[in-house]
Amino acid sequence: MQLDLKTIADRTGKTVAEVEHAMTLAKESIIPKGKQIDVTEGGVTRWFIVTRKGVGVILTSDGYFHHFDFGIDDQWEKYSVIFRGDLDDDLMPVFTKPDVLLIRVDSGCETGQLFCDITCECRQQLGLAMKTIAEAGEGMIINIPQQDGRGFGLPFKLATLRLQTLFKMDTVEAAHAVAPNGVIDIRTYGGVIGILKYFGVPTSMKINLATNNPHKAKVFGENGYFIEGFTPVVIAPTEHTGHHLYAKQEHLGHVGLMPQSAELDETRTQEKGVEDSGKSTDASEKGNDS
Ligand SMILES: [Zn+2]
Repeated sequence: MQLDLKTIADRTGKTVAEVEHAMTLAKESIIPKGKQIDVTEGGVTRWFIVTRKGVGVILTSDGYFHHFDFGIDDQWEKYSVIFRGDLDDDLMPVFTKPDVLLIRVDSGCETGQLFCDITCECRQQLGLAMKTIAEAGEGMIINIPQQDGRGFGLPFKLATLRLQTLFKMDTVEAAHAVAPNGVIDIRTYGGVIGILKYFGVPTSMKINLATNNPHKAKVFGENGYFIEGFTPVVIAPTEHTGHHLYAKQEHLGHVGLMPQSAELDETRTQEKGVEDSGKSTDASEKGNDS
């Protein structure tokens, strides 16, 4: 097919030269571009090859995001980034708000985000994070699909979902039932730092982390980034997610998931058919034990 550059340019009021330039950039963007980047995590410094494999634009109900495909030679291999903001001529983000960068690290959830399983809140959380970043005007979501199942992968996750369904187990109980040695979260976040460094995010930029899981903050500090605050990504509990959210808050140290904890305890009590009226129903009194 012979492209008519003049007609294409006229559609959007651009010049032929601008179209040609954009087409050159598009062709160059699919040539992998790797950088060697040092990352410290858990006191150990390693060198990763962080490779940008592609750059595009997606149009969502919250507007346009630049979409990056990354590969890193760590155990998670694939990273996807969506960025709200402008790109320069090398298709790299331009940060116009040097004081703060809003970031969400998303562990990927095939069952919830792709196939719409309603027993987890991951899909809604992703949507809320996109909306929050769109409203902020600048920020990014870094998705790590292989971290499904808190790093154990999709087969592990599927096994836990089966137990959850059969026995009304919550996500933490089911993970303990399947995990080999009592550890139920093996995710690492060094690759996230690799991507920030690839993008040239200076440590002078303060990070606002959109998460309910404070454990995700540690690696930033280890690499000289300062977390100036957390933006909660809270989805109201449903009859299908409430007991999982409760378990995450009680056992995994996640914060702010249960704004209506008293109501949830009621749901839980009804579900289990337990008479428990004398007990405190305020989750905040119990604190986080891990
Ligand atoms: Zn999920």
